[in-house]
Amino acid sequence: MKLSRQRTPTTVLVLCAFFLQSSFVLAEGNSQFPILLAAKDSLDGPPPCGSDGVCNMAACKADPDCPTELQDNTPSTPQPSRPGDIKDCTAQQQDEAGLAVDWLADNWSEFENRLENIRGWSVNIGNCLRNRFQKNGKIVCEQSNNGRCDGANAWAASLNRKCHLCPSWLNTVANISGMENRQACYAALLTHEWAHTCERGHKVAEIIDNETFGYWKENHSPAVTIGLSSCRMD
Ligand SMILES: [Zn+2]
Repeated sequence: MKLSRQRTPTTVLVLCAFFLQSSFVLAEGNSQFPILLAAKDSLDGPPPCGSDGVCNMAACKADPDCPTELQDNTPSTPQPSRPGDIKDCTAQQQDEAGLAVDWLADNWSEFENRLENIRGWSVNIGNCLRNRFQKNGKIVCEQSNNGRCDGANAWAASLNRKCHLCPSWLNTVANISGMENRQACYAALLTHEWAHTCERGHKVAEIIDNETFGYWKENHSPAVTIGLSSCRMD
């Protein structure tokens, strides 16, 4: 497959499209060499992956003829920014909860605004909760429903930065289909418990966990299809 367009006798504008990357590279070339589009199959047989002056990105993972910024950049699964702050959780729990935290941390200004404008109820969220999301909030997946997990979704102690998620609640979340749905539950409950670590009372924590759920849902539409009650948080 060839792409060349004669503009002047000496100059050819070459459009080289790397469909695999969904990006386009414009370059001016010399008309002496035909520029081959990176096609997986061509009339000339399988494309060579060695140094031959042709970038065969579609078929070759590390063709030396391809620009280095296009090589070896298969997208990897996003990872939570602070995995060290998440303890005793499964890989899936860690990823989903951690990435929900990161998303709220990244959108903190808007999120905080939202919490501070709940139905005319004025509250100053302050730096403590922001720090939990952006810097120092910890998550522990508890392994027993006894103790403070008895009859609770989660718990937190004041003067501490940990949200303890209880097994029965984690099990409820695990049975919800759709990652964004499960993350809506994590977002709401983590906000609730971390609010307690910021010396907020239970009523305030309930009001803001509700708002957090709504904020997450609005920003992950239409993926979030559940209500807060599905998170066992009414
Ligand atoms: Zn509470």
